[in-house]
This record gives sequence, structure tokens and C-alpha cells, in this order.
Amino acid sequence: MGRMSQQQFENFTASSLYCDKCKTAMPVRERLLLILPDKEIYDYLCTGCASSVGQREVTAGEKIVAQRAVPRRPRRRAPAQRIRL
Ligand SMILES: [Zn+2]
Repeated sequence: MGRMSQQQFENFTASSLYCDKCKTAMPVRERLLLILPDKEIYDYLCTGCASSVGQREVTAGEKIVAQRAVPRRPRRRAPAQRIRL
């Protein structure tokens, strides 16, 4: 029985994880641990003993956020071109 690799862990949303203290897979609670400019880190807590059983990083790309589309207004005006001969 191998342990779950970190790579696999990142690719699914955990609802239950193996807990070392409970010696079994326990339902976990997701807690937002840290918000960074480009990602958020979630902590998974065992609902049985409340110890941390894992963490997950959600990058901005993964997260689907309904962001308001900010219209980009170009500051520069198009330079008036004068052609003199
Ligand atoms: Zn536990």
C-alpha cells in the first residue's frame, strides 16, 4: 500500500483523507489557510481529531472566479500624425 503522492493529491478535491491519528480515512474539512496574489492555500483538517491531514494549493488559473471585466482604456491617445512635405 503506497502513500498517495503529492501530485495525485493536488488533482482532486479531497472529501476524505487518511489521518495518521485516527489510523483511517476520515472526512476532512477544508479551511482557507493563506491567500497569495496568485494562489490560495487550503488546509485539510480531520473532522475526527481536528489535526491537519493535508494541504492544497489552488492557483488563480484553476479557480473559476467571476471577475468583473475591467475595460482597459489606453491612456495614450493615438498621436496625431502630420505629414509635411
Ligand atoms: Zn483524525
